[in-house]
Amino acid sequence: MEVIYIPQLLKTPEHKLEIPIDECIAGINTLTPIRGTIIVSHGGTFLEVTVNAHTIMTLSCDRCLQQYNHRLELKNSEIIWLDKNADEFEDLPLEREVHVEDLSESLPIDGHFDPNKWLYEQICLSLPIRQICGENCTGAPEIKEEETPTIIDSRWASLQKLIVDN
Ligand SMILES: [Zn+2]
Repeated sequence: MEVIYIPQLLKTPEHKLEIPIDECIAGINTLTPIRGTIIVSHGGTFLEVTVNAHTIMTLSCDRCLQQYNHRLELKNSEIIWLDKNADEFEDLPLEREVHVEDLSESLPIDGHFDPNKWLYEQICLSLPIRQICGENCTGAPEIKEEETPTIIDSRWASLQKLIVDN
């Protein structure tokens, strides 16, 4: 999916763009391509982004540690504020005073919206917090309390890998 130049949206008939999705996204372990649509509409001071998509992901069960397939349905909508003064850099310095409007996502009004990155985040946010393979889960493998492996949230797995590699 191509990155969208935000002001370009105002040149479309209804100030919105419908983007078909049929792809795999780097960093997301999906068994099938993610299929569906993203609709980005420009509301003057904000973007409203809606996704309706599905895929099958391979997750590992928190209880028995077996891998299993999980059908993920994405039906989310998010308002992204457009800020004239926003930096292109998304990481705000920690010491910066935080205003209420900073607590939600914002982009520069003349910046870019990256549907791939947004979709990646939506998928991460939609993953079940507790991943259990199903009703027939065989339960925890026999391990002593102190040997319980740290269960790393899949979102942090790549970060963990970086730490290990360094
Ligand atoms: Zn299980």
